[in-house]
Amino acid sequence: MTSFDQLGLTPALLDAIHARGFTTPTPIQAEMIPFLLTEDRDVTGLAQTGTGKTAAFGLPILQTLDLQSRSTQALILTPTRELGLQVSREIAEYGKNLRGLRTTTVYGGAPFGPQIRDLKAGPHIITATPGRLKDLLDKGIADLSSLRFLVLDEADQMLDMGFKDELDAILATANPSRRTLLFSATMPPEVARIAATYMNNPHEIVAGRKNQGVGTVTHYYYRVHAHDKYEALRRLIDVKSGMYAIIFCRTRETVKDVTARLSRDGYTADALHGELAQAQRDAAMERFREGNPSLLVATDVAARGLDVDNLTHVIHYDLPDEVSAYTHRSGRTGRAGKSGASLALVHMREGHRISHIERVIGRKMEEARIPRGRDICEARLLDLLLRVKEVEVNDEAVGPYLQAVRDSLEGFDREELLQRFVSVEFNRFLEQYAGAEDLNPTQGKPRPKRRETGPMVSLRLNVGRRQSALPPQIIGLINKATDSGDISIGRITIDADSCDVQVDGSMAPRVEKALAGYNYQGTTIRVERVADRSTSTSKRRGPWRPSGTDRPQARRPKKGRKGKPGRNG
Ligand code: ADP
Ligand code: MG
Repeated sequence: MTSFDQLGLTPALLDAIHARGFTTPTPIQAEMIPFLLTEDRDVTGLAQTGTGKTAAFGLPILQTLDLQSRSTQALILTPTRELGLQVSREIAEYGKNLRGLRTTTVYGGAPFGPQIRDLKAGPHIITATPGRLKDLLDKGIADLSSLRFLVLDEADQMLDMGFKDELDAILATANPSRRTLLFSATMPPEVARIAATYMNNPHEIVAGRKNQGVGTVTHYYYRVHAHDKYEALRRLIDVKSGMYAIIFCRTRETVKDVTARLSRDGYTADALHGELAQAQRDAAMERFREGNPSLLVATDVAARGLDVDNLTHVIHYDLPDEVSAYTHRSGRTGRAGKSGASLALVHMREGHRISHIERVIGRKMEEARIPRGRDICEARLLDLLLRVKEVEVNDEAVGPYLQAVRDSLEGFDREELLQRFVSVEFNRFLEQYAGAEDLNPTQGKPRPKRRETGPMVSLRLNVGRRQSALPPQIIGLINKATDSGDISIGRITIDADSCDVQVDGSMAPRVEKALAGYNYQGTTIRVERVADRSTSTSKRRGPWRPSGTDRPQARRPKKGRKGKPGRNG
């Protein structure tokens, strides 16, 4: 095995590496550091996250800098502010013994003033998100004419985030005789195009493959009906004790929704999405890093800066639009010799995407079944028994309390005690899953879920056209507030500021309870029962009325628009 001492690094850098506690270079570091120090070529590195890329390019760059000069000699582009700051911090640490080293980080969403000031001081290394750097270049602030290194870190993510134009502009203006280093976990055509256009006969290093092949991530997928997704998620969480997981959703709306439902159901989970203020995001990441809470619901973009990779599970509540995102998500589990699992909830119409992912990741995804109530109770019970068997008993510490325990349990026989201990741990699950349905769709047949409907009751809500509430929104609101797709909804009549909705009488109390006080896009919902407007004033003009909704039926809203994640550059 190579050691850091054999890579040709100066004592100042070796000292910093040892101070960080690194003993052995990662494969990409062992290959890349000597190469960058001795050869004058461009490099592409195909490597997963967590393989130590920052030091692989950061150390040789630091060693090559001319610290006397005031020119910017290295530019590192990263997809997000968090990754930029992370890279910057790491580089500053490796360079802590280099006197006079100046580095700076620029990113969007922050005032220009301080960044402009820092750039004018002539930093040796700039770490930047593409959007903000492009803006600064347009203002004539940053000077890339003396660059010796240009690093594209996580190139696939930058392109996924829509930074194509910015990258083109930056790559085209930077000093043409610089060396370009491109890192990416995947090589989609767009990344290959960048390499072909802006790089000169690059040397290719593939380091992620070895790691990826550690084979410790097992990929599972579960077919569920779209309306059973949340319930399926709960079961996946319940069946495992000690799950440390990120639950990935495609949009921030879903993140908010899933987090709210989880906390209402007694789970502790944090949300991470682009709408949160930076300070809130930092705090959530910090808590999750410490493992409390151990569930984080996140969008891909927001989770990017989170350097946690020892997860037990990665859950794809939604499949991502891009396979590269699937790779990034799943790469956060199954590290360092541990095993991990990547669980994807897939609806019925998404089956074909599985084979696509399998082709790209070069691994098989196994179809698994959503645990039934009984499976969950059984698994948790076995887990409890295992813990009882394996727990270390500290005689001295428990000793003083045992007599009191004996006294208070006097009179229970062994059988009774067992029942009671099991019940303490299990009543929650037993109750929750008593009579729980099997969520696994049967081949071809939709799961029967229609109940007979009784007479309808009309409810008036204080939202209407002015609040952009059309029937799909109203139905969505009811489904969401009641957390189900089973409410039978009849005619919906919409006015400017209110609407009347018929719901199955037997479900009306539940709907009223769920809706009252519910927040619909800033409006607090009020509900009242009213006489059926459509019979009493059936001739009124104006209200939007869907056709063919006279028969009671359970309906669901159309699927939401695909939203591009927000960017932060
Ligand atoms: P990547 O950019 O490939 O995702 P990073 O450079 O961020 O990976 O490194 C991932 C983590 O591994 C960081 O916490 C980093 O400090 C640590 N690390 C990097 N190199 C080593 C090493 N040689 N030994 C131990 N830890 C390392
Ligand atoms: Mg990195």
